[in-house]
Amino acid sequence: MDNSSFCRCERCQKIIKQPHPQADMPFYSKGTDSNYFFTFVNEVAKHVKQTNPDKRVVTLAYMSHAYPPVGFKLESNVAVQFCFASNRAPYAGAGYENDLAALKAWADEAKESQRPLYLWLYYTFPVETANNGKYHCFPGFFAHTVADQFNSSTSTATAACSTVVTARRWSPMSPIN
Ligand SMILES: [Zn+2]
Repeated sequence: MDNSSFCRCERCQKIIKQPHPQADMPFYSKGTDSNYFFTFVNEVAKHVKQTNPDKRVVTLAYMSHAYPPVGFKLESNVAVQFCFASNRAPYAGAGYENDLAALKAWADEAKESQRPLYLWLYYTFPVETANNGKYHCFPGFFAHTVADQFNSSTSTATAACSTVVTARRWSPMSPIN
C-alpha cells in the first residue's frame, strides 16, 4: 500500500500498536507498521509453502514497514525487496542515513536468514513525474552517490547486483567488472 490506512478492527490494531524501535522515526522509512505488515506476509507465505513449496513470496520493505519486524522471524520462503526511498536524494541528510540504517538492518537479517534481498531503486523518478506533467526532465544522475552506494555493497552484499545494473543503465557502453 502507498499509505498506512490499515484495518481498524481490534485484532489488527493490537498488532499495529505493538512497540517497534523505529516506529516513531521522523522519516519516510520507519518501522511503525512492520510487525503488522510482515505478520500478514508470513501468513501468506505459510500458505504458499503448502500449496507451492518451490515458490517464494516477494514483498517490499517500504515506508511505514521499511524496517524488519521485531519479535518474530520471516518465513523462509519470503524474499524482501528494500525500497531505498532516498537513494536519488543523497542531499536528504538524516533521511538518507536512516535509509542506509534500514538497509543495513535488512542486510544483517538476510545474512543470518540466508534469504534473498533485493533493492527497489526508483528508476521511475524523475521521469514519471515529467511524463505525467508532459515536460522533459534532466535525468537523475548522482555519480558520487552511486560510488558510495557501490562501495557500501561490501557490507550489504546483496546491494551490489542492483548497483551494477544501475550503473550499466546509465552508461551501457562502459565495462563494469
Ligand atoms: Zn482487521
